[in-house]
Amino acid sequence: MKHKVVIGFRLPDDVEREFSARLDARFVDGAWPRRDATALAALLYGCGGIVVTPPIHADEWLFEHLPASVRVVGTYSVGLDHVDLVAAKKHGIAVVNTPDVLTDAVAETALLLLLGAARRATESIALIRSGQWQGWTPRQIIGQSLAGRTLGIYGMGRIGRGIAARARAFGMTIAYHNTRRLAPALEEGAAYYDTPEALLPVCDALVLACPLTAATRGFLNAGRIALMKPTAIVVNIARGDVVVDDDLIAALKEGRLFAAGLDVFSGEPRLDARYYDFPNLFILPHIGSSTIEARLAMGRAVIDGVIAVLDGGNPGE
Ligand code: NAP
Repeated sequence: MKHKVVIGFRLPDDVEREFSARLDARFVDGAWPRRDATALAALLYGCGGIVVTPPIHADEWLFEHLPASVRVVGTYSVGLDHVDLVAAKKHGIAVVNTPDVLTDAVAETALLLLLGAARRATESIALIRSGQWQGWTPRQIIGQSLAGRTLGIYGMGRIGRGIAARARAFGMTIAYHNTRRLAPALEEGAAYYDTPEALLPVCDALVLACPLTAATRGFLNAGRIALMKPTAIVVNIARGDVVVDDDLIAALKEGRLFAAGLDVFSGEPRLDARYYDFPNLFILPHIGSSTIEARLAMGRAVIDGVIAVLDGGNPGE
């Protein structure tokens, strides 16, 4: 018999088909019941597992109110910042996520953001779409080349290393800060800086690729931006709350950075409206892992993890 699982959102058709082939899957098409114990109990009646995404917070309240039948919470993401792991442990509920399978997609998005910011894509797209383009001139929309510049990576994990590999192909030199220095085989010649304060001044571009934790929340603030070159680019594919919006906006406004590329935002989808004003900001609506390859593989990873727990085996993580 298939395990009964409720998924808190709709997925691409092929992914839903795979869920339904292997699980008794019900997809919530609309609002997930928040702080409504009766609606939650009705929705999850007889369920062995639930699947959430970053917009659905698997917090203490949720763990407290899950029916006793629920033994696993899967998240359709690698990030776990929306899952209270302490509460999960306290309530004896396994958590599974989707590491590795979205690394390529997110690393590619980081390069898209980096190129979009460096080559002033927002202004270029606006100009050509306005119908006002007067033709090529040597002075129009002059950006920066990535080749020969130093890319700093804050959080040199799976995605950070995927970004490094791609940036090397663009002729960039890699510098990084991470909680721990990597083994030489994983470093692949990248220069390690043992503090962010040492890393930031050498960066021509900085990519934030860390998880959102108590230590990384608000990491990119005014003090740290002040350590960067005024010609530097900032890219965030981590989580919006790693950046202090007021401070990044002030730096862009005052020309203390060349440009920024952002895929994630504090309070998304309602990002700080001031972000819309900057021509030197290249923004994307959290599409980091949005490739069909990643979506399918993320689906398989969650399904495998949920089934492993419900069959009594080991969860993926
Ligand atoms: P990962 O393999 O765990 O890498 C995270 C890296 O950050 C690790 O090397 C970790 O070091 C390091 N780190 C953690 N705290 C740090 C700190 N305070 N200072 C410096 N380094 C720190 O995870 P991943 O698969 O690369 O994913 C990284 C994050 O990307 C996710 O957590 C998620 O928030 C974000 N993400 C975004 C999207 C998107 O759509 N934009 C998609 C997927 C993921 P240690 O291992 O030594 O602790």
